[in-house]
Amino acid sequence: MSTAPLSTVVLESRFAQELEELSVPWRADDVADPRLLVLNEPLAAELGLDPAWLRSPEGARLLVGNLVPRGATPVAQAYSGHQFGSFSPRLGDGRALLLGEIVDAGGRRRDLHLKGSGRTPFARGGDGLAAVGPMLREYVLSEAMHALGVPTTRSLAVVATGRQVRRETLLPGAVLTRVASSHLRVGSFQYVRATGDTDLLRRLADHAIGRHHPDAAGAENPYLALFEAVVVAQAALVARWMLLGFVHGVMNTDNTTISGETIDYGPCAFLDAFDPATVYSSIDHGGRYSYRNQPVAAQWNLARLAEALLPLFDEDQDRAVSMAEEALEAFPRQYSAAWSAGMRSKLGLPEDLDRDVASFLVDDWLGLLQQNRVDWTASFRALGGAARTGAHAARDLFLDLPAFDAWAERWRAVGPDPGVMERVNPVYIPRNHLVEEALAAAVEGDLDPLGRLLEAVTAPYDERPGLERYAAGPPDDFGTYTTYCGT
Ligand code: AMP
Ligand code: MG
Repeated sequence: MSTAPLSTVVLESRFAQELEELSVPWRADDVADPRLLVLNEPLAAELGLDPAWLRSPEGARLLVGNLVPRGATPVAQAYSGHQFGSFSPRLGDGRALLLGEIVDAGGRRRDLHLKGSGRTPFARGGDGLAAVGPMLREYVLSEAMHALGVPTTRSLAVVATGRQVRRETLLPGAVLTRVASSHLRVGSFQYVRATGDTDLLRRLADHAIGRHHPDAAGAENPYLALFEAVVVAQAALVARWMLLGFVHGVMNTDNTTISGETIDYGPCAFLDAFDPATVYSSIDHGGRYSYRNQPVAAQWNLARLAEALLPLFDEDQDRAVSMAEEALEAFPRQYSAAWSAGMRSKLGLPEDLDRDVASFLVDDWLGLLQQNRVDWTASFRALGGAARTGAHAARDLFLDLPAFDAWAERWRAVGPDPGVMERVNPVYIPRNHLVEEALAAAVEGDLDPLGRLLEAVTAPYDERPGLERYAAGPPDDFGTYTTYCGT
C-alpha cells in the first residue's frame, strides 16, 4: 500500500471564500469504519490523487470527509429550487458537503463533493444520509454518461459507512464522492435573487462566468452573455439526453447546472422500448419530467434563471425582460438543431441530404419504433449493422415487417454511412434490469456484477464478444420499471 502523504492533496476553497453568504462551514459525520466499495482510478489520476493512497485507511477517511486536507474548508451550499413547479426558497445541501476545489492535471478547477455525509443546517426533516444502492447507482449512471460523451458530474468513489439508513427498510449507508466542474445551479441564482442583494448576485454571476463561461466576460453585456451561454449548454445537454433515450426524472431548478453538466442521478433511467411519454419516477404523477417533456422543462428552468438575473441585464427592468425573452427564444432553435443533427448521425444520413427527406426519414423511423415498441438503443445499433451487412438484425426487432421494409428501402436509397452510426450509437448503456441486478448483488456484498456492468458501460461504443447480455433489452418478465427519489 502506498504511503503517499496527505500533504499531496491540496484543496482550494474559492467558492467558500468568494461567496461566503452562500455556504455554511460544516463537518461530515464521523464514520467509524469506512470501507471503500468502488474507486474510479482513472478519475483519481486525472485529479492528481494517488489511487493506492485513496485505497488506504487514510484515503477512505478523506472520502467520507473525516480527514480534511490542507486548504480545505468544507461547506454546505445554499440554494433554492423550483421542485415540480413550486418554489422552495431554502433547499441547499441537506446531506452533502463541498470539500473544496482541486485543480486537475489539465489545469481545470473541479469540485470535490460528498453526498450522504450527514445532516447539515439545510437538512430540514431529512436524515442527511444516503444508502449504498442509490450511491452506486449514481456512480454507474454518471460514469456511463461520461463514457457516452455527455457532460456530467463524475463519481470518484463510494464508501460504505457501516451505518444503517432508515428508508422503507433499514439499508446499508454510504458516501459518494462526486466531482463536478462546479455545483452552481439555477437554484443558486434563485437563492441570491430572493435575498434582494444585487451586489451578491453580481458576484455570483462573475464567479460563474470565471468558472464556466469566461468568454462572457468580454461581451458588451457579460451577464446576458452568461445567460446565453447557459442556454447553449443546456440545449446541447438535453439534446444529448434525448438522443440517448435518457430520462433524468427530476429536472428541478436545483438540479439544473450552470455548467451544462448532468447532475443528481436520482430517479433517472434509460428508455427500453421507445415511448415518448415514458416516466420512471414514482412521484412524477403528471409526467412533468417525462422523456418528451425534457426540452420544455429545461427551457422553463432557464426562464427561472433569466428571472433571477434580470437586475443584472439592465437597470430598466422592462428592457431586461425583453432581453431575457429574446435570449430564451434561442433555446428551441438550438435544441432542435442539435436534435436534428444528432438524429441524422444516428441514422447515418449523408450530410448533404435534403432537409425534408431527412426529417421525413427521422419522423417515420420514430413512428415505427413507437408503434412496434422497439428498444431505443438496440434499434439504432442493429440498423447500423444493417447498413453494413443487410437488414436482418434490425428487421427482427419489428412486428410490422411491411412497414419496416418500406422505410428501410427509402433509408437505404440515401446511402447511410454505417461508420458514423457505429460512432454515435452505443451498444452498452446501463440498462435498467442490469443496474437493478448489479445493485442488488452489491448490497448483499457481491461487487462483481457491478464491476462487469461498469466495464461494459464505460466503453459503450466498442462492441466486444462475451458482453452480449449487456447489449440486450430487458427480459420479458421485467415489467414496468419504476424509480424512486428516496435516495
Ligand atoms: P435531490 O432530490 O437529491 O436533488 O434533493 C433535493 C433537496 O433535498 C436537497 O436540498 C437535498 O439536500 C435534500 N435532501 C435529499 N435527501 C436528503 C436527506 N436524506 N437528508 C437531508 N436532506 C436531503
Ligand atoms: Mg439535487
